[in-house]
Amino acid sequence: MKFGGTSVGSAQRMKNLAEMIGHAGKNVIVLSAMSGTTNSLVEIAGYLSKKNVEGANEQINALEHKYFGVIDELFGQDGAPKEEALKMVKGVFTLIRSFTKQLFTTIEEKAIIAQGELLSTQLFCNYLHTQGVKAVLLPALDYMRTNKVAEPDMPYIEEHLKQLISGAADADLFITQGFICRNVYGEIDNLTRGGSDYTASLVGAALQAEEIQIWTDIDGMHNNDPRIVDNTKPVQFLNFDEAAELAYFGAKILHPTCILPAKLSQIPVRLLNTMQPDAPGTLISNRSEIGKIKAVAAKDNITAIKIKSGRMLLAYGFLRRVFEIFENHKTPIDMICTSEVGISMTIDNNSHLNEILEELRQVGTVTVDTDMVIVCVVGDLRWDNIGFETRVMDALKEIPVRMISFGGSNFNISLLVKAEDKKRTLKALSKYLFEN
Ligand code: ASP
Ligand code: MG
Repeated sequence: MKFGGTSVGSAQRMKNLAEMIGHAGKNVIVLSAMSGTTNSLVEIAGYLSKKNVEGANEQINALEHKYFGVIDELFGQDGAPKEEALKMVKGVFTLIRSFTKQLFTTIEEKAIIAQGELLSTQLFCNYLHTQGVKAVLLPALDYMRTNKVAEPDMPYIEEHLKQLISGAADADLFITQGFICRNVYGEIDNLTRGGSDYTASLVGAALQAEEIQIWTDIDGMHNNDPRIVDNTKPVQFLNFDEAAELAYFGAKILHPTCILPAKLSQIPVRLLNTMQPDAPGTLISNRSEIGKIKAVAAKDNITAIKIKSGRMLLAYGFLRRVFEIFENHKTPIDMICTSEVGISMTIDNNSHLNEILEELRQVGTVTVDTDMVIVCVVGDLRWDNIGFETRVMDALKEIPVRMISFGGSNFNISLLVKAEDKKRTLKALSKYLFEN
């Protein structure tokens, strides 16, 4: 069971969580940092890398103060547990302050960013002890590892995690840190921002769990963006591929990397709401629902690049030359559409855009559209199902569409529109696909 930053975002939320899971069975609980903490730690690291010690200290003091407040609320006047928590928090902040006095590299930066999960899990574990729950901490830095290609080292994770668990036979419950890990050199590292979901699915896969539960504060994955479209509804069932498309294309509720380990180990993932624990949420599994369009999601900050060249006509090897340029600049391509004389592609990372464009101009005439949005429609979209293309196109009849991609998988139609048209595109799709 993974609980995100808001689920442990205050002393009160931690108390509620303890109430909910303390006696619910021998589960593994993956926690994020308290909401806001990782961002503060990133800021502190930012000051330190700019050698602004004063700025860093100000942030460090403010964050430490916040944790003292949490301890007061969690432990009240309780003598020993409170002292223990204070000692732990002071230790963490002494460590963070020690980084203001030494050379600051990405190694120190990652060590700082890891402190949020270390704080939340230790505080929560201590609190559970005061409630009579035998909670045992499974230190992520002792089992969560990445290998030399920075991918999770599954055999290592499985072996060490199982060892830790079997060493604590009388535990009621296990608590572990999301997000943080060690890399192949043994240095503290992380699974990228929002990576606690990934931890949960790696742990679930390593232990062959019955189910991986991701608890947030929304009642499952919705069929469209609830911040933009009225009357969106939670989707009850998704298959792994549909969920992966949605997570990647903008449904903020789930980290995109989280689906793969679960899919490979065939472990269902359930998205649930801490505020409404009895709501059904979304169940992600092998099961597909025939003929059903499930959801619409959008991904912002997309750049479209078009290369037109007479040389492409009837030529082979043209696409390889184009793709190689992106590969050389380590820039992933998301959407592709081709015609006999041109190709359009999208990227979501512009850090090497200028170099890429420079090289593409040697291959053909290049045009760029920035501020675009990929809108994707996800569901059972196998090509022999008929009728759904018409519904999508009907929804788009008033909207300029830059690219359309269908047939890449059985689960997705992607559309590229201008950022300014995103809202009306999402609303129109909901109206044509989900109303009546
Ligand atoms: N605390 C980390 C972050 O804010 C990881 C997570 O919450 O999933 O990115
Ligand atoms: Mg998250």
